[in-house]
Amino acid sequence: MCGIIGYVGTREADEILLQGLERLEYRGYDSAGISLLDEEGQRMEVIRAVGNLAKLREAVDGNGQGPHATTGIGHTRWATHGRPSRENAHPISDCTGQFSIVLNGIIENYVELRRQLTQEGHEFRTETDAEVVSHLIEKVYDGDLVAAVREVYPLLEGHFAIVAMSPRHPGMLVGARRQCPLVVGRGPGENYIASAIAAFLKWTKDVQLVEDGEIVVVERDGARFEDLDQALVEREVTPVDWDDAAAEKQGFETFMLKEIFEQPEALENTLGERMRRGVPVQLDEMRLPPDRARSIERVLILGCGTSYHAGLVGRYLIEQVSELPVEVELASEWRYRNAPLSRNTLVLGITQSGETADTLAAMEAARERGGHVVAVTNILGSQATRVADGTLYTRAGLEIGVAATKTHVAQVLALLILGAYLGQERGVLGDAHQAALTADVQGLPDLVRGMLEDAEWMANIEAIADRYHQQRFFLYLGRHVGLPVALEGALKLKEISYIPTDAYAAGEMKHGPIAL
Ligand code: GLU
Repeated sequence: MCGIIGYVGTREADEILLQGLERLEYRGYDSAGISLLDEEGQRMEVIRAVGNLAKLREAVDGNGQGPHATTGIGHTRWATHGRPSRENAHPISDCTGQFSIVLNGIIENYVELRRQLTQEGHEFRTETDAEVVSHLIEKVYDGDLVAAVREVYPLLEGHFAIVAMSPRHPGMLVGARRQCPLVVGRGPGENYIASAIAAFLKWTKDVQLVEDGEIVVVERDGARFEDLDQALVEREVTPVDWDDAAAEKQGFETFMLKEIFEQPEALENTLGERMRRGVPVQLDEMRLPPDRARSIERVLILGCGTSYHAGLVGRYLIEQVSELPVEVELASEWRYRNAPLSRNTLVLGITQSGETADTLAAMEAARERGGHVVAVTNILGSQATRVADGTLYTRAGLEIGVAATKTHVAQVLALLILGAYLGQERGVLGDAHQAALTADVQGLPDLVRGMLEDAEWMANIEAIADRYHQQRFFLYLGRHVGLPVALEGALKLKEISYIPTDAYAAGEMKHGPIAL
């Protein structure tokens, strides 16, 4: 899944789209493109290129005097269906060239739809799954683009975010999503739609989230949300407090390194006023009143990848300070099990983005089975907060690096604070223990800062990396909280260096790894 940006306003759209795509570049992509539309709807132009955004910029510049376009959509593609090529790059048109669409995600029933549309005479020009969308819009369109997208939406299976544009409707973008992120950015006399806030953060911090099963119409003067029955939906505008500088590397070589150095602030902000000496821990946002907290008999943590590993560390912490049994499950597995759940189970769904499809599905299932579900997430108002009974925000700020760093430590801290709250309400965390724990936790940001500023310690890390980076395989071992740290380390190395890794509980080393 890659990046989408759309713009409607009065400024030159091409530069805004290119800059927006550059802000989404961190996700990796194989090709990119933009569609531009002038104010009168006289001319629509599609420019696409294989490779990086510099190539697209060249193509746009080489295009000479394009239309004075004030509306447009842009896309960075990470091919799932069809080779990475200029032909397969988005935006993708229909037979008539009247509709231009960008799509993130996958249309699972595209083979069937494509066969049907081909039989009906539609000519396909790409190998992508996405192209069925432009032809379906063409097929059902009778003068109303919003109605066409609304009609097409239920025909599509899979998970996706789409934005459509047409010269028949100058100054209008129509978007919809299913389990893939799509957000609207609101500015004065100009508006944006994108797959991530970072794309338009430079120009506006006022955000509206699009939900599954909605059609959003973005125009110069506003954005309108409708459900599939055409009922208007009120959607509040939420200001995000992220600094645009967060979307820039600020002298660091990579976003990941920059975000590693932001761990102290992430910890400080996540801690905030939540745990203070002599003051009971308050977590009202979890909507778990004290009497309900006292009735909790078990904690179930659900997450995927790094969030799952945060849960594994959290298990030790919560069990220790609350004396409640804690289980941690991969959301992508648990959702397919028929695991019974009692009303007295506190379920924590951990997802940094608040959009992880498997975690959302597992949280919904847990709620249906009667658990009290709390979302542990970094993104205000994200989907996870809406499927949950309550929320516990990590306040790590915008994380751009694909490998989670500062948000991971913030998750672990949030779980510790939650454990302290449960321990306090259950009466098992005495005042002295609370005071000691609070002091320790308050010291954490400086402890991390100290490590990051310790030149000798940093040089050691570099020396170790220098010595071993040619190795073809890494085995991580750990015990107690060291085990999830080993698992997370193995995941990180795999993810960012593509070196094969494995991780084991130290005591299990004799069962397999030694033979290896
Ligand atoms: N499935 C679409 C394609 O392969 C979109 C991929 C993406 O999300 O970038 O064109």
